[in-house]
Order: sequence, then structure tokens, then C-alpha cells
Amino acid sequence: MSEDLDKRLSAEVEARRDNLVALCADLIRIPTLNPPGLNYREICDFLAARLERAGFAVDLIRAAAAPADSDRHPRWNLVARHGGAGPGDCVHFNAHHDVVEVGHGWSVDPFGGVVKDGRVYGRGACDMKGGLAAAVIAAEAFITACPGYRGAIEISATADEESGGYGGVAYLAEQGWFAPERVQHVIIPEPLNKDRICLGHRGVWWAEVETKGRIAHGSMPFLGDSAIRHMGAVLEEMEATLYPLLASKHTAMPVVPEGARQSTLNINAIHGGEPEQEPGYTGLPAPCVADRCRIVLDRRFLIEEDIAEVKAEVTAMMERVKARRPAFDYEIRDLFEVQPTMTERDAPVVRTVARAIEKVLAKAPEFVVSPGTYDQKHIDRIGKLHNCIAYGPGILDLAHQPDEWVGIDDMVDSAKVMALTLAELLAR
Ligand SMILES: [Zn+2]
Repeated sequence: MSEDLDKRLSAEVEARRDNLVALCADLIRIPTLNPPGLNYREICDFLAARLERAGFAVDLIRAAAAPADSDRHPRWNLVARHGGAGPGDCVHFNAHHDVVEVGHGWSVDPFGGVVKDGRVYGRGACDMKGGLAAAVIAAEAFITACPGYRGAIEISATADEESGGYGGVAYLAEQGWFAPERVQHVIIPEPLNKDRICLGHRGVWWAEVETKGRIAHGSMPFLGDSAIRHMGAVLEEMEATLYPLLASKHTAMPVVPEGARQSTLNINAIHGGEPEQEPGYTGLPAPCVADRCRIVLDRRFLIEEDIAEVKAEVTAMMERVKARRPAFDYEIRDLFEVQPTMTERDAPVVRTVARAIEKVLAKAPEFVVSPGTYDQKHIDRIGKLHNCIAYGPGILDLAHQPDEWVGIDDMVDSAKVMALTLAELLAR
């Protein structure tokens, strides 16, 4: 690829700077809150009109019968495809269009699309309407500069990433939209910073662990069996043996932040005994021995670990407690699991985006892995497409925070990186 083309692409993106800001702000002004899943059709219609004007063929796909899909809150997705002048690879940009709740502490209107001091503010600004806008601008700039390119460009805007992606990318992958014969390269413009390439994520296992007891009068606890005391023993065993074991497991995955380069376990919730009463209840609690106690485990595991092993560690820990406590009984229920995934460093999309970052930003990219998961899991597992990364503008730490913003220069720079990537993959 000639330096001349790089310059032209950068100029085409630069010429669209105001348009990029306006597009990002317009997307923020459509409040696609999830849950429950508001305005999904509206944002898909808005993008469809825009992309059809740019020559894309657009499909709107409802994830019918997916979790949370209903006539009141249908799970709408958009896939837009622009075909080149001849056969070649397809480069697909996938952005989720849903955003999380607003929360407290905002100094600007979270759905106002406020532009000030070189930033666009709003819920979803960095996660990830800024990345979606950058991908659209990159594609439009590339098509203008290289009308005779070969292959295809796809842009998808998908539902429900923030709640697992089952009404979005998972559904599309099941329907074959990410089949390797129709899509060869996937870039997910999540806010990982414009100079970092995210190769994948750690695995997840959520489980509910319950200890069982027997209810009795609180004044005669010896007539019952306290599930809470049993759980206390479980937590002690966890501190004594499980946490040290997890801390000893390190990964070769370049996870950021560094604290996540080992196995981790969070106890998301604990509850035992009488249910909590409604706020405003003014009575006293009743005296009972707790007959059950539950915790929710959030275990994040490494690519070097096997999920069966991860589960077996917890069962073994429960068995150690059981051996010491007569009448101890427990149950472990699986809630959710995701396998870890990591794209190879020398995969075509990784190498191409890395070179584009070097050209646009004059620095070598950093390769990272996310501590939590995102939609790459579905593209990898269901779509069987492994040539996939996350790359996009915005600072990850700002996601889901009050006064979320995305930098305008960052959006422009990452749009240039995306446009150069398209040129290298489709216009060589
Ligand atoms: Zn996101």
C-alpha cells in the first residue's frame, strides 16, 4: 500500500471530523438503556438510513425468543454490508448499541450528546457509541478513497452486550452471520484506548453455593442446625486454601490491569436466614435458626485453566468442610459460564491493525487482554471465527461511570487506524 493512499485516507477521515462528532452525539441521544432494552428499533432505523445513503445493504434482525425479547422490548440488531468491485475478504465492525443505566453524579445531560472541551459526553459515549461512529466514518472515508476495492465491509449494531449478548451477537452467530465463509476479520470497537489491541478475555464461572441446615427456635439453636454457621466454615476454608491456590495461578495472557493476571474469585452476594423485609417495615425480626445460606461466586479463570478443574476445586473445598462437620450438606448450582478466548498475535487482523496504529500514531501498539468478557466470546465459540479483536477509542475506566465521555481526537485517530486497516486488507 502506498504512502500516498495512507495520506488520502487520513485526509478523508479528517474532513469528516465534525460529521464524526455529530454522529456520535446523535447516537447518544437515542437512549438505548439495557435493561430493559429501550429504543433498539429506533437506533437501528437511524443507522440503517445513514448506511443506506452510503451504499450499504441493510438487514434488521430481531432476536426473536432470545432472553428478554418481547413485543414491548424487542431485541433489534442491524447488519449492513457494502460490497466492493470484486471478490475478497470481508471486514466486519461489530458494535453493541445498548448502554447501561445512568446512575447518579452526572454534571451533564446523559442523553444530551453534549460536546465540550474536545470531548463528547453522555451514557454510551465511550462504551461504545464513539467506537461505532468511528467505524462508520472509517468505512465511508475508505469507500470514497478506494471505490474499486475488493471484498466487503460490514458494520453491525447489536443488542444486549451489557447483559450477555444473547439477544445480539450470540443470536447472529447462531444464525450464521459470523460464519467464516462470509466474514473473515472482526474488529469490535470497544473502548480499549486507541493505541491498544485487545486480543480476548478471561473465562467466567458464576455459581450459587448453598449450605443447608434445619430451622428451629432461636432460643434453642441446639434443636436446629445453622446453615449460616456452616457457611462460615466454608468461608474460612476458602480463605485458608482456595484463595492461596488461586493467587498461585498466573497467566501468560497480557491481562490489564495486572492484578487480573491470576485467577480471581469474588463473592458477589451472601444471604442466609429470614428474608429481608420491605423498606418501611417497622417490626422486629423473628428468632429462627437459618435453614439455608447462599453465596454467589464470580470466578474468573485463565486460558491455562480448564473449566471442569475450576469447578472441581470448589467441590473439593466443600468436601473438605463436609469431612469436618457432621450433618453438613450443600448444593452447587451453575449460573453462567464463558470460556476464555485469545486471538493469536500473528492473526491477520492483529498484524494489520498493529501496522495501522504504528502509521497513524507513530508508536508500537500494546497488546492486552480484558479481565471481563465481551461479545468476542460468541464470535469465537458460536461463530468459530478466531480472527477477531477489540480495538476502539475511549478510556475503559470511564465506561459505566457518571460523566462518561470520549475524546474527539481519539475517535478521529482510531477512525484513521480503521480506514488504513480496511485499505490494507481490501485494497492491496
Ligand atoms: Zn461495551
